[in-house]
Amino acid sequence: MADILLFADKLGPAKIVQVYEPSIDLKAVLVIDNIAMGPAFGGIRMAGDVSIEECMRLARTMTLKNAAAGLSHGGAKTVVYADPKMPKLEKERLIRALACALRNFSEYVMGPDMGTDEECMAWIKDELNNRNVTGLPAESGGIPIDQIGATAWGLRHAMEAALPYCHFPEACALAGARVAIQGFGAVGKNAARFLTEQNAILVGAADSQGAVYDPEGLDVNKLIRLKDAGKSVIDIPEGKKSPRDDIVDFDCDIWIPAARPDVITEANVQRLKAKLVVEGANIPITEAAEKFLHDRGVMVIPDFIANAGGVLCAGMEYQGKIESEVLEIIAKLVRKNTRLILEESRTKQITPREAAMNLAVRRVERAMSFKRWSIY
Ligand code: NAD
Repeated sequence: MADILLFADKLGPAKIVQVYEPSIDLKAVLVIDNIAMGPAFGGIRMAGDVSIEECMRLARTMTLKNAAAGLSHGGAKTVVYADPKMPKLEKERLIRALACALRNFSEYVMGPDMGTDEECMAWIKDELNNRNVTGLPAESGGIPIDQIGATAWGLRHAMEAALPYCHFPEACALAGARVAIQGFGAVGKNAARFLTEQNAILVGAADSQGAVYDPEGLDVNKLIRLKDAGKSVIDIPEGKKSPRDDIVDFDCDIWIPAARPDVITEANVQRLKAKLVVEGANIPITEAAEKFLHDRGVMVIPDFIANAGGVLCAGMEYQGKIESEVLEIIAKLVRKNTRLILEESRTKQITPREAAMNLAVRRVERAMSFKRWSIY
């Protein structure tokens, strides 16, 4: 127990649950970080290389994200130790078994994350027979988060709100800005779509197979068609191909991580050339690397402010709102929060993440102050 408790602080985690079923090789961990603000939202991530530590850090990000977004929800996360590309029947069995194991945790609302999707959430709904799941297909009463690009839509608005605070002279609009995106899944490809609609130029893209660079601009529709057909961004005939981590070196104005955690650390942060980094992924940059970028004058919009579009969409689905209301609310809130933290960062001479933490932690602590047991 001692090693798990080493990560505990004043906000959580409240509960850590191991799920294990040897007959189907189900291995998973649920971390409920903090439910002072309400039932915890937290996606289910399926990947071969997840860990309890990653799960705890992602659950905390959810606590902060929900608080900053003004949702009356706490934060949680589940990781499943498995390859998401396994045969569909096996995946369905694992997900259904997971749902059964967690059905009594009424304070936890499940949702999709990397390696799981709307179909997985429909299986969970079928097992749970209650409201504790979001990210459902439209046919099951959901708002299709990834199809409408809720998170990427928020990223676009975070970027537009951040540009006037950036130190590069031409930074008043997205038009002409050169963008590189790491990860070309639900978040990355929709971000590419929304940004190029504003006449930004996608100069670089990477997925798990490799990276491609073209200073003249990549054809976003072609890349999306390739990904939708199960191929890689490096299958596009145009551009220069290189190993996936070379995306860090690409010359660009705006860099968007939209894949795995900790992709920028003290070991590679010096290589980043962008002037603005907008975190589509959760915890993509270590604290020390973010501080390094801040000191060098590179603006970083932190994950739990920039990528809140997905959870706002989940919150609205949970409240029974309809798809047409969602995009406008995301745009408004993400812009407002981005401006708020950048103003505070400027006036108090602190990093945008410190300003965002102040905003979110203040709200969580106030909710905790009303409770007999503070975090659950
Ligand atoms: P996804 O599974 O749809 O796509 C992930 C993409 O990343 C794929 O293209 C994959 O090939 C690529 N990838 C994986 N490892 C990589 C690596 N090492 N280098 C480069 N590319 C790599 O996932 P998603 O839903 O787009 O989520 C991406 C990130 O955004 C995750 O960190 C997730 O937690 C975060 N996020 C997603 C949402 C959402 O609404 N989907 C909301 C908030 C945050």
